[in-house]
Amino acid sequence: MKNRWPAAYQVIEKLEYAGFEAYVVGGAVRDFIRGVSANDVDVTTNATPNEVKQLFEHTIDVGIEHGTVLVVVKESIEVTTFRSEDTYSDFRRPDNVMFVRSLQEDLQRRDFTMNAMALTKNDELIDYFDGRADIKQKLIRAVGDPFKRFSEDALRMLRAIRFSAQLDFSLHGNTLEAIEMQHKLIDRVSLERVKVELEKIWTSNHVGKGMHLFKTSKLAINFPGDWKTYLDKWNRFLMFENVANGWAFFALMQQSNDINTLLNFYKCSNAEKMHVKQVLLAVEKLKKGHWTAYDIFQFNEEILIAAAYYAEIILDMNTPYENNDIQRLKAAIPIASSREIAVNGNELMEWKQEKRGPWIKEVLEKLTIAIVNGQVENERAQLKEWYFREYDN
Ligand code: ATP
Ligand code: MG
Repeated sequence: MKNRWPAAYQVIEKLEYAGFEAYVVGGAVRDFIRGVSANDVDVTTNATPNEVKQLFEHTIDVGIEHGTVLVVVKESIEVTTFRSEDTYSDFRRPDNVMFVRSLQEDLQRRDFTMNAMALTKNDELIDYFDGRADIKQKLIRAVGDPFKRFSEDALRMLRAIRFSAQLDFSLHGNTLEAIEMQHKLIDRVSLERVKVELEKIWTSNHVGKGMHLFKTSKLAINFPGDWKTYLDKWNRFLMFENVANGWAFFALMQQSNDINTLLNFYKCSNAEKMHVKQVLLAVEKLKKGHWTAYDIFQFNEEILIAAAYYAEIILDMNTPYENNDIQRLKAAIPIASSREIAVNGNELMEWKQEKRGPWIKEVLEKLTIAIVNGQVENERAQLKEWYFREYDN
């Protein structure tokens, strides 16, 4: 571990030296067993948060109420005290955190066997629930009774599906059955959390698998949106470069739902809503068969690429655009934005002999269109000529 995760090693070494136990847990151990590098390395210990804080010079309280302290050594390591969650009020947030004595109790509260292993600083694996065997079989299996575990925390159902999409693992029989039977509990989970998991599925390598499970496990029933059309139109090549494209595809799949209401329901950000709107508009324009020069100018490359792609899948259109075409067409437009016009407001005021006013914006807009459409070159003398021809007053 020393070479692989030097910061975690240093934290564990110091805790052990002070007489505590400490291990790497969770996703990092899972990824280590899978033979891939881990995102972040978390440490669990029997030291209380205050004991952890006393031991290390630089710490940040990130979740003291959950028993978590961020220890900053070479990098930041989350150190969480062994704990269990034993009372649940809303199926999501434990009422209180119970610190526990043993590592085993801490591991027992974790969601899936693959996430419930610990590693000592000398790379000895502690695996009470056969997580390693499940990883070998590419199985996601709840720790303990899945029915109970999902009723404790319904988010785990969605996490199971998300991991399946990220890791290309299957759900163990009972685990899947428990989701199918208790899918309604997902209602108790806040939409912010649902959104995070959905988006992780959308940007995973096996998004098709995840969305298929989302439907067959019956979780999808509990969420507004036309998930049926969504999956009917699914294409095995479909991948989302970013979450906004995931929402754009979702929006395009809606037959009878109001898209704005849906995006608000899922707590999409304004930037996401704007992205979706633009993709929808660009798809709409493509229904005429091709984009005009002004369309190409108006939408950014990312929007055009997404729209062309979705139009093919959804409208079953044979769109005339490949990614390279879009880049080429974009590059052929003389200006990338109206800021690049070779005249400015001052010059227009001089030409027209008139004070500043909203008319300037109007003229600049007209100029933009003329330049984009190739009616005039973006060159001062020519623009002036064009202006006096157009507005000969
Ligand atoms: P990722 O690589 O996506 O971060 P991860 O396994 O580290 O995966 P986290 O959400 O960061 O996932 O959680 C860290 C660990 O905490 C998990 O591996 C799991 O042991 C435990 N855990 C997280 N959420 C839950 C939950 N809802 N119920 C039970 N255990 C959980
Ligand atoms: Mg993690």
